[in-house]
Amino acid sequence: MKFYDAHNHLQDGCFAGRQSELLAVCEKAGVVQMVVNGTCESDWPQVLQLARENKMVLPSFGYHPWYLHERTPDWLANLEKFLDAAPGAVGEIGLDRWKPGLSYAGQEEVFLAQLRIAAERNLPVSIHCLQAWGRLLELLQNHPQLARGLVLHSFGGPAEMIPAFAKLGAYFSFPGYFLHERKLKHRETFKAVPADRLLIETDAPDQHLPAEKNQFPLADAEGKPLNHPANLGAVYAGLAEFLGEKTEALAARVEENFLRLFENL
Ligand SMILES: [Zn+2]
Repeated sequence: MKFYDAHNHLQDGCFAGRQSELLAVCEKAGVVQMVVNGTCESDWPQVLQLARENKMVLPSFGYHPWYLHERTPDWLANLEKFLDAAPGAVGEIGLDRWKPGLSYAGQEEVFLAQLRIAAERNLPVSIHCLQAWGRLLELLQNHPQLARGLVLHSFGGPAEMIPAFAKLGAYFSFPGYFLHERKLKHRETFKAVPADRLLIETDAPDQHLPAEKNQFPLADAEGKPLNHPANLGAVYAGLAEFLGEKTEALAARVEENFLRLFENL
């Protein structure tokens, strides 16, 4: 089977120096491609390097709402520079009204500036959204359509909003974290996702799977557990089981969706 990771952070500092080893394990585990999402200017060079050195890596460059305070005055020109060097997706970008202590001020402006770049360059977008679903829909509806489509990564919004987002070209990405028993409501939501709009992700090193489904235990130097990107197959299997579908059938469907959205990048 072939697995496609719609969203992870292989460049994360906690993986530093171990990426080649992780990629080798991923390859053995059936991972064919992964979208590696930058989050701020300081990690974009690492994303670019990973993409240049590994054909499995599709780069994505963007400013994540958690790191907006780190922006340099040249951040937007800098983003264009990275997209010139390696045309990939734009992300991880988004809106976050959930994270305690995080200011919402400026988030929309930065988000819209990045959407504009994606629309101009006809690139797909990877979006993080926590507790801002209504506002996100409004902003996307009032923005020139992203013809290539967009990923709502780790989609945790209400099922009722799926048709409206789908109409704007959205794909809905399922993370292993939703396989936890307490996340039943989030799993149920995915039953409403159109067959041709489903994607699957690890969000590694975050979004841990339930312990019994974690096939590749991994920890940083201090012993803090990390989600290994090779767990992707376990996320596919967990979702397939929940949807009452064969993993092979689910994998074929997700492959088509992934290739349609990210083709020619
Ligand atoms: Zn992420």
